[in-house]
Amino acid sequence: MLDVSEIQTIDHDVMVIGAGGAGLRAAIECSAQNLSTGVISKSLLGKAHTVMAEGGMAAAMGNVDSRDNWKVHFRDTMRGGKFLNVWRMAELHAQQAPERVRELEEWGAVFDRTKEGLISQRNFGGHRYPRLAHVGDRTGLELIRSLQDHGIHQGISFHMECTALELLLDGGPGSGKIAGVLAYWRETGRFVLFRCKAVIMATGGGGKAWSITSNSWEYTGDGIALAYDAGAELMDLEFTQFHPTGMVWPPSVRGTLVTEGVRGDGGILLNSEGKRFMFNYISERFAPETASSEEEANRWLDGDKTARRPPELLTRDEVARAITAEVKAGRGSPHGGVFLDIASRRPADFIKRKLPSMYHQFKELAEVDITKEPMEVGPTLHYFMGGIRVDADTQQTTVSGLFACGECAAGLHGANRLGGNSLSDLIVFGKLAGAGAAAYIGGLGATPKPVDDQVTGAIRRATEILKRETGTNPYILHEKLEQSMSKFVGIVRIKAELEQGIEAVQALQEEAKTIKAPGASQYNPGWHEALSMRSLLITAEAVTRAALMREESRGAHTRLDHPGESPEWVKYNVIIKRGADGAMAIEKRERPPGPEHLVAMANAKIEDLESGKVGGEVV
Ligand SMILES: Cc1cc2nc3c(=O)[nH]c(=O)nc-3n(C[C@H](O)[C@H](O)[C@H](O)COP(=O)(O)OP(=O)(O)OC[C@H]3O[C@@H](n4cnc5c(N)ncnc54)[C@H](O)[C@@H]3O)c2cc1C
Repeated sequence: MLDVSEIQTIDHDVMVIGAGGAGLRAAIECSAQNLSTGVISKSLLGKAHTVMAEGGMAAAMGNVDSRDNWKVHFRDTMRGGKFLNVWRMAELHAQQAPERVRELEEWGAVFDRTKEGLISQRNFGGHRYPRLAHVGDRTGLELIRSLQDHGIHQGISFHMECTALELLLDGGPGSGKIAGVLAYWRETGRFVLFRCKAVIMATGGGGKAWSITSNSWEYTGDGIALAYDAGAELMDLEFTQFHPTGMVWPPSVRGTLVTEGVRGDGGILLNSEGKRFMFNYISERFAPETASSEEEANRWLDGDKTARRPPELLTRDEVARAITAEVKAGRGSPHGGVFLDIASRRPADFIKRKLPSMYHQFKELAEVDITKEPMEVGPTLHYFMGGIRVDADTQQTTVSGLFACGECAAGLHGANRLGGNSLSDLIVFGKLAGAGAAAYIGGLGATPKPVDDQVTGAIRRATEILKRETGTNPYILHEKLEQSMSKFVGIVRIKAELEQGIEAVQALQEEAKTIKAPGASQYNPGWHEALSMRSLLITAEAVTRAALMREESRGAHTRLDHPGESPEWVKYNVIIKRGADGAMAIEKRERPPGPEHLVAMANAKIEDLESGKVGGEVV
């Protein structure tokens, strides 16, 4: 009989799950509000996925082009998200990002500089003006380093290489208020019980369900699945972003990201005939603000402020679809992508200075010198726009005491995220989640207590895997899931295939019931893999069901059987929750209408917004 009192127990006011940009910023806020704050992370501190972020963080500071301001950033975000974004989140993000970036600088972040000594900002897809504060192409590293340094000095407790297995509620599974987190130390396999009054989920996305992805091993959808198990609502999971430029060769690094900064700094996309094909794929929505000829695009690159932006800087969904169409039409590169050329556009020293990681990445992994030759690139699963549903101002989920921020939360990006809007999302909504949790704890009466049966039940489920001698190999199961998601829930989708995708994921869930990793819990990587399969399978099922329900093509979700955006569907979010019978329940839920002033600004002609004819009264 398991005795809960024998399990290592640690008490904090608030537990943050995840030590990426969102988790660290949330923890800093909690600590600043005098809460005892614990952070747990699957990997070592400093190794969260955020560290891989390259191009920069979007904030309308207007340092490089003074015409920029939060209203233009808000409009770009709504248009990039195809108007499905939560209005209030897009507003808060655009308004607060500049302050959060300046705060990072005060905490020690060393950004690239303009000649005048201001934080430098670079161009990125979908952003009208140079807006991404950056540190070469290693911005995530600087972001995480600055937050970590600041957090450590604030007295936050970090519990590294510790994986959360289950959220504990005072009413048992799926009922009542948050009371703790059950986790295990990856090194020893021992369980640890964190008792707390609130949890902030900041676990990132779930790209490891696909075979070609830019995501790291940590991206197994844990936060999404844990929140779902606790009774939280998930939203708009059908929107999975395929970044247009991942490496396609050699096979061992297929999917590794090639930053949009390459195109922002002048790189162009070419097909096998050497044609700059993006001019053939400019949609009606973006045509008025996109260069119509190479001559105009070149003038823009030379700094002519009257010229419009090149089509390579259209939003990611548009560029990824264009690349897919070129490859399908037989105009792809030898390894199934297209060519990305910056060598003929910029001098070698510029490329090495602005894109040092890309230079080394291609040199070392593909033996390609990007200062001399083009790169081969193609779409790679990159980002989850959907996730846990939250309140815009507090980041509270639908479970009492559970908050979520960063990539695992939904709402800011709508149907498609603009590059650079994630890092700023982390710092804006990380802070708000911390403040939300502090306010919740301030208003809480008695401290909620975990229920012993929930703890022992979760431990039993986890340890059964170690006792099974026969059954399913977790690595093979993972590979099958990757193949199925890539085949049935890829960049273009269709009803019959999505239905096959649901059948496949259900069959894998059956197989997972006998998943095995026999032996001890210490140094048993198969056990870690087996435990993360549960999250991956829940996340994959939710994405597939949501993709089947949304019968339109919008942003990153392309349905061959429902081409084009539907004026009807923009009124709805797809909400997923665990049903009373334990099965996944899915609902098409009407969205609240946007506030009039925001709707007017998002739909305004750019000249009218900039002249103040629209939105002039809004501060
Ligand atoms: C190669 C690459 C480049 C990118 N470049 C940019 C860019 O230039 N600009 C931009 O805006 N965005 C960029 N992105 C996207 C952006 O980096 C991510 O969306 C963002 O960093 C996510 O941050 P996060 O804090 O939500 O999660 P993460 O940084 O992924 O952190 C998640 C944390 O949760 C922990 N965790 C997960 N599950 C558990 C569990 N069960 N128990 C305990 N801990 C857990 C992990 O260990 C980790 O500490 C890029 C993404 C990639 C892959």
